[in-house]
Amino acid sequence: MDYATYLKKYPSEDGRFGRYGGAYLPPQLVPAMEEITQAYLTICHSSQFINELRRIRREFQGRPTPVYHCEKLSRYLGNCQIYLKREDLNHTGAHKLNHCMGEGLLAKFMGKKRIIAETGAGQHGVALATAAAFFGLECTIYMGEVDIAKQAPNVARMKVLGAKVVPVSTGLKTLKEAVDAAFEDYLQNYKETIYCIGSAVGPHPFPMIVRDFQMVVGEEAREQFKDMMGFLPDVVTACVGGGSNSIGFFLPFINDPVEIVGVEPLGRGENLGDHAASMSYGTEGVMHGFDSIMLKDANGNPAPVYSIASGLDYPSVGPEHAFLREVGRVKYDIASDLEAVNAFFKLSRYEGIIPALESSHALAYAMRRAKEMGKGSILVNLSGRGDKDLDYVIEHYGYGEDFKDFD
Ligand SMILES: *Cc1c(COP(=O)(O)O)cnc(C)c1O
Repeated sequence: MDYATYLKKYPSEDGRFGRYGGAYLPPQLVPAMEEITQAYLTICHSSQFINELRRIRREFQGRPTPVYHCEKLSRYLGNCQIYLKREDLNHTGAHKLNHCMGEGLLAKFMGKKRIIAETGAGQHGVALATAAAFFGLECTIYMGEVDIAKQAPNVARMKVLGAKVVPVSTGLKTLKEAVDAAFEDYLQNYKETIYCIGSAVGPHPFPMIVRDFQMVVGEEAREQFKDMMGFLPDVVTACVGGGSNSIGFFLPFINDPVEIVGVEPLGRGENLGDHAASMSYGTEGVMHGFDSIMLKDANGNPAPVYSIASGLDYPSVGPEHAFLREVGRVKYDIASDLEAVNAFFKLSRYEGIIPALESSHALAYAMRRAKEMGKGSILVNLSGRGDKDLDYVIEHYGYGEDFKDFD
């Protein structure tokens, strides 16, 4: 099935990717989601919307981001060539702004005056606060008190950008409670507000909207790589948390003779609670309003998860990923904390690029595969830059001396 036909067919009208996806909502929110779906399906095809989004990407975000050949890192690993799609050079330093700017523009076109979200580590909050500032929208970000204490620089960024950061002090005071608080706000205020989900997850239409706004990454990368090389890469890979950077990167290659691999965090190991590799260890279930593959505890609730990369520690995955694995088009693999930290240091030393710990998982997989393949090429989506992770990495791993002979 070609790319255009695939996009027409998936998701279905009721938001399904095969058996996965859908919208499991409290009845009060059904009309709100229906309004967003209808508005999106009309607005996203208008030339006014398309042209405005193009202008924003070019002039504000700095797109297209380049594709870069890692010559020295590739030589160190053997003969297989590693290339990076440089989303770390997208404004604010990661891919998240791609869908936040799209969601902000949609809110503007729909005549909403406010956008809200929850945030864990603060990356989504900062991207959304940036979009709100750009579009002149009010912005409220819900964040657990524990996360606020841990993520002071991101809290400061959101506030400087003009967002209201609301501390959530119920339960464990982290992401889950922040989600509940943001939903509560949305239930009260959906007439003038849009809830902006931070990844390709949640009830329909969010997995579709976020995917569509992220596809610019794969579309650019495919053209850029073809222009550079005259052919396509053998393997494309990206890290998978909720699955937004990966789905946008993968889909434009869906009809090509290219192997596609998503990489999940193995964290400290295989035991439940030590990783966040939902696709590798999870089973089907419903959480946060959609049907997908998820990690459950003994009672069937979302299990505790862990990864050194806070952007990857989500107990489920976007429904389109579950579907693409089921039909055999995309494979999912894992990389541990240590492999990710090794990749973090190697890319820094060999290429002068400090990657986000999230992106380092995809790079770790690419490095492993490059050694096995011994020839050919791998294109990695470098979803973000690593400045945010420096303090943590240095405190726990020094300056990488112990990774010199890591294999
Ligand atoms: C949030 C984040 C991710 C994970 O989110 P996805 O929705 O899976 O893409 C990956 N990389 C970076 C840099 C992030 O900030």
